Formats: sequence, C-alpha cells, structure tokens
Amino acid sequence: MTQEEFTSAAELAPEMDASEPLRHFRDRFHFPRGVDGNEAIYFVGNSLGLQPKTVRSFVEQELNDWETLGVEAHLHGKNPWLPYHEFLTAQMAEIVGAMPIETVVMNSLTVNLHLMLVSFFRPTSDAPFVMIEKGAFPSDQYAIESQMRCHGLDPSEFLIELTPREGESTLRTEDIVEKIEEYDGQIALVLLGGVNYYTGQAFEMEQIAEAGHKAGAIVGFDLAHAAGNLLLKLHDWDVDFAVWCSYKYLNAGPGGVAGAFVHERHARSFDLCRLAGWWGHDKETRFLMGPEFKPLAGAEGWQISNPPILQMAALRASLEIFHEAGMPALRAKSEKLTGYLEDLIDRIGDDRIEIITPRDPAQRGCQLSIRVRGGDRSLHERLSERGVVTDWREPDVIRVAPVPLYNSFADVLRFAEILKDCLTK
Ligand SMILES: *Cc1c(COP(=O)(O)O)cnc(C)c1O
Repeated sequence: MTQEEFTSAAELAPEMDASEPLRHFRDRFHFPRGVDGNEAIYFVGNSLGLQPKTVRSFVEQELNDWETLGVEAHLHGKNPWLPYHEFLTAQMAEIVGAMPIETVVMNSLTVNLHLMLVSFFRPTSDAPFVMIEKGAFPSDQYAIESQMRCHGLDPSEFLIELTPREGESTLRTEDIVEKIEEYDGQIALVLLGGVNYYTGQAFEMEQIAEAGHKAGAIVGFDLAHAAGNLLLKLHDWDVDFAVWCSYKYLNAGPGGVAGAFVHERHARSFDLCRLAGWWGHDKETRFLMGPEFKPLAGAEGWQISNPPILQMAALRASLEIFHEAGMPALRAKSEKLTGYLEDLIDRIGDDRIEIITPRDPAQRGCQLSIRVRGGDRSLHERLSERGVVTDWREPDVIRVAPVPLYNSFADVLRFAEILKDCLTK
C-alpha cells in the first residue's frame, strides 16, 4: 500500500467521531496515563474496563449507609442491601438478551462456571463426552477437566477439543456443527466461549446451541469476552446456561461481581443437583432459618452467599451507562470502530503482521488479534513507550480492543499511526 492510501483513510477519523451518536460517553470514564505521560490510548477494555466517573459516588453511598446505619442498612439503607442484587438484574438481563428470571449477578466467573457445571454437566455412560474449543481460556479448561475427574472421566479420553483446520487460526461454524453431529447422542456438554479471548473469534451461538440440542447435549457459554461486546440473545438462542465476568467490557472494576444465566426452562428444575447456600433459598422464609433448603425459582436459586455490596455498587454505576447507551447502538459503533482499525492495519501493508480475528464482523466483537510474524515482545514494548496500552499474548499476538463506550476513531487512527511507525523503525 502507498502512503496516500493510508493518509486518505486517516483523514476520515475526525468526521466519523463528529457524527458518532455515542461520542459523549467517553467523558463518563477516567482514562489512565500512558508511559509517555499523556492520556493513554487504552485498548485493553477486554482485560479491565475503565472506571466510570460515577463509580465513586455509588460506592460512597454504600460506605455512608454502613457508616451511619450499620446493620440497619440491610433494610433501611437508601438501596437496601438485602435485595441489592435485584437492583442489577434487569439491566444485566438486557445486556445478555435474557429475561430477569434467567439472570443473576453473583460470585466471580469461574465460581459461577463451577456452579453451573455441578447442575448441568450430568454425563452418563451413553453420553460422557464434553466438547470445548482448543485453546480455551485456561480457567475454563481447568474447571471442566476438574469436574470431569469428579465424575470419574479422564479428560484425555472424553474431552473433545475443537481445532481449526490446518493453516487456519479460527474455527468454522460448519466444522463445529459437523463435529457435534459426529458425536450425536454421546455428548453431555458443549461448552464454548462467546468470544475466544485469544483469536477474538465470536462463535455463532444460536447455530451451535441448536446443533448441540439436536445431538442431545446441554449447551453453555462463557461470555467473559462477549458480555457488553456482542449483541446477545441468550433466551432466544435457547442457550442452557452462561456465565460472564463484569470487569472486562462491563467496567465493574477488578474482581467485579460476575453474572450467570439459566434458561427459563430450567427455572423450576428444583431436582437438579446444586450446591446450596442460604442466599439461594426462598426469600419469604430465608430468615426463618429452617433446616430444609427451598431454592428460589430461576437463576437466583443458584446464589450461595450474601453478596459484596461495594463491588455491586460499582457494577451498578456501569450498568446504568450501558442502559443509557443501549447495546444495539454500542454494537453499531463497535462494528464501525473495529472495521476502521482493520482497514488502517491493512493499509499499513506490512506482511509481517496478520489479523487472525475473522474478517466477517458477525464473527467477531471489538477485538482484533494481530499476529506479528517472527515477532517478540519488543514491538509491544515500543507501542507501550508511545502511550498505547495493548496486551501481548505468547507467542506472537497483540490483542487490540477498541471499546465503543469510550474509545474514539481518533484513538484508532493514533494507534495505527504509531504501529506503522514502530514497524518501520
Ligand atoms: C477473563 C476470563 C476468565 C477469568 O476468570 P475469573 O474467574 O473471573 O478470574 C475466565 N474465563 C474466560 C474465558 C475469561 O476470558
């Protein structure tokens, strides 16, 4: 590519920002400084989302109620702590395309995955197999393998790992479906990420859920990289269960409280195996402290402990912003923003770099994973010196996630210019 082609695309950034309806949301967030001392070009919202400026007052409200009311705040606080998790349900449900009864905010992600697996991973001698993606996030791999061992199943025998075709970096939906059909009747569980953390590939969840169900399997998703990123319709897609964290795209801060989804059709499956605790008990009789566990209907019935209110307050601040912006508008901006990034990278025209994330916008979220051939960390470090915050994944991938809530087309352009510079120097 010639310099002119890069320049002509570069000129578009200001007008794209000016005509972007969500542009003002950027001002709602605190931006850290980059190594160069300027406001960072922050492209790691897929690791830790930025802090909404309203978080402090939401958390302070609960600190104040604790200070002035003590235990009474459970019932008489401005936002009573007893039902506090309920204040988050509707807005969280909106983000993942679920009904409120299908959604609960609790615990952390891997804990929720285990809770879901205890209930929904019920292998039999006829159907002992589990299907996951090769290169799944390590925590998911550890979780499922440990659960398999608890059932006496050797993962090396019963864990099927979906692998891209020779020479390809991502999975084809048709290959996933074909593999599921091949094991018809023998799969207990299909468990995939909504978006693969490494390649940025978004799986076609509706088709996968349908194929899984046809084959007699339960279908669950880890939406760590999908919640707040993709337009999700968990209920309509008929997914059995899903889990996600809130500190990545959902901006709830480090260790933020996670989410879980249980499809409505399982809402009253009270005979499912589950790990019980008092917060999942029927609200009417919870404080009678009786000996017998009576689970709540729906996702709430999987709660175990009373939740961390300060963390939930932070999440609440963020969910209000999502509610105001709306996922459809965020997704529309996201496609443009990431499309622009892709275009600029292509125009750099350096054959050492290759985008391994699918080119089809329907098969990716905002993240692009850039493979640097023969590369090592040094390119990543040079970017960092120029105030760009991205992340490096061994052996040779830089992950870049322009987030539609707070990143701009100008950020994307600045990044592309710096990348171009770093590659030529
Ligand atoms: C970020 C992430 C996790 C992290 O798990 P925690 O329980 O929140 O520490 C797990 N799985 C996937 C797919 C992730 O992207």
